[in-house]
Amino acid sequence: MAVSIKSKINNAMQKDAVLIDAKTSRVVANAVTVSFLLIHISLFILFALTGVRPMAIFNVFSIAFYIFCFYISYRAWYRGFVLLSLIEVLLHMTAAVYYTGWENGFQISLVGITVMLVISEYLGRMMDTKTLPTFPLCGLVMMTYILEYIISFFHTAPYTLPVRVTFWLNIAWALSTFIISVGSMISFVWLVFSTQSMLTRRAARDNLTGLSNRSGIRGILEDITESRGLDGCWAAMMDIDDFKVINDTYGHLCGDYVLREVARLMEGSNVDAYLSRWGGEEFLAVGYTDGNMQLHLDRLENFRKDVESHDFVYNDTHFSVTLTIGVAEYVSGESLNEWIDNADKKLYEGKRSGKNKVVS
Ligand code: GH3
Ligand code: MG
Ligand code: MG
Repeated sequence: MAVSIKSKINNAMQKDAVLIDAKTSRVVANAVTVSFLLIHISLFILFALTGVRPMAIFNVFSIAFYIFCFYISYRAWYRGFVLLSLIEVLLHMTAAVYYTGWENGFQISLVGITVMLVISEYLGRMMDTKTLPTFPLCGLVMMTYILEYIISFFHTAPYTLPVRVTFWLNIAWALSTFIISVGSMISFVWLVFSTQSMLTRRAARDNLTGLSNRSGIRGILEDITESRGLDGCWAAMMDIDDFKVINDTYGHLCGDYVLREVARLMEGSNVDAYLSRWGGEEFLAVGYTDGNMQLHLDRLENFRKDVESHDFVYNDTHFSVTLTIGVAEYVSGESLNEWIDNADKKLYEGKRSGKNKVVS
């Protein structure tokens, strides 16, 4: 069975959700906490087994700190979370280089941390929360890296890890740093790309009714023109009758309610078309005739009747609303504007001859 125009649009709209919400940010914070916790548990075991006592003790505090981070993330203190974990990483890696030397690669993790810092700024901005001063903090990480090198250059580490441990530690740091950095950057690319497409979709949407706005439907019409041409298309310009009277009698907010309600009825009808709010109280529907224009005219007539018989209720006041619809099939060779203008002319024919009708 062919997929109707409307179900295709609904599928596309489902993607238009908020990208970074409280739940997602908690999941991200928890994932970072779990990874850091696992790293510190492994390091605790390693230092305990190799007899590097000061670092084993340090890791007990680190483990306790990352367990506490679950609470920080639960309370959504993300700035505190980023800052505290940054301090922990800087202190830990400096101490590790101090006690065991440069050759064990602890300092490599600082490169991954700068990537995470930059991305956490983006996430914070997306969530509209205050962010940390990323650039100075990245500078601090860089200075720490250099400082660690200077310390290890002029100072002999009091502990020497077995060569095999040094070998595997360097491989582990390389893997974890690359995975964390590349993983973060890929998520970042995905996030930027999804945000861009969400904004493009939003720019094409009318806020009040949720239908396409004029620029949205123009985009759709241009796509149709490019892909299959406009031959075999129909356009229906629909205009709510005496809408000014509704506004003047029941107020502007009631007018807005009527616009939303008409859009809802239109979406629920079996008119299979791209639906849009063309402007004010005018809607434009565009569909394919599929060789049976009468079917579409019947559906438009049914929709008109549905609106006419619908019980509109606003602040306990019941009233009815009607609309007039002008329909034009696309005639080969005419421009987009000429075609829409023809639908508009039919609409005004309907308005002049008593309103509440479909004219084709
Ligand atoms: P006709 O039957 O000939 O179409 O008459 P009408 O009163 O529907 O048309 P007219 O063009 O005289 O008035 C349209 C009104 O729609 C005027 C404008 O203030 C109102 N309007 C336009 N956009 C909105 C909107 O977003 N919300 C509300 N409440 N009113 C709107
Ligand atoms: Mg109008
Ligand atoms: Mg009107």
